[in-house]
Amino acid sequence: MTQNNPFPRPSALQAVLLKELVKCAKACYDRGWSHGTAGNFSLRGSNGIVWQSPSGLNKGELNPESFIPIELETTNVIWPMKVRPSAEMPVHLGIYRAVPEAMAVVHTHPPFAVAASRSGKDIIFEGDEMQKHLGCHSHKEVCQVPVIVNPTPEEMPELTSTVGQYVRKGVPMVILATHGVYAWGRTPMEALSYIEAVEFLCKTKA
Ligand SMILES: [Zn+2]
Repeated sequence: MTQNNPFPRPSALQAVLLKELVKCAKACYDRGWSHGTAGNFSLRGSNGIVWQSPSGLNKGELNPESFIPIELETTNVIWPMKVRPSAEMPVHLGIYRAVPEAMAVVHTHPPFAVAASRSGKDIIFEGDEMQKHLGCHSHKEVCQVPVIVNPTPEEMPELTSTVGQYVRKGVPMVILATHGVYAWGRTPMEALSYIEAVEFLCKTKA
């Protein structure tokens, strides 16, 4: 823990995006995708910082000051707060390390996507118009969404260094099997829109 640094402040743009992230978290809660205290959310800050949602809180009641500054390189909490960062923070950090263009990561448990991940195999879409929202040029292309074995709490920290090997070029998400979706984007709303798209695709999959 780096205690001799001042508390970092988000830039003006990041402050706006943290408000947007709070709206995303509430949207996931309101849709029944983040029951209890499930779901976690983060934003890439300046100078190697990631703003990570706290563990244990209801994700319909976050505010922009709820987010905990984490050093991406070391995974250390930069400033101690009353609450701990999400236990799933390693996945967020792994995505930021592997995908330089990822500015926000949204994780929630949409039921059709979770059900579709139950086999543990990548989820493949072909012939659906909505695939275009996941980066396909045409519905005739094949869209393959990576599915990763859901880690135990003890295995979770490894994902900071391993999740990158599952990231497929052009597909802005990974799914932890029988658990939930992690999507990233240039903004929180963009990341949420990818989750909406994959949930629709899973819901309508034959
Ligand atoms: Zn989760």
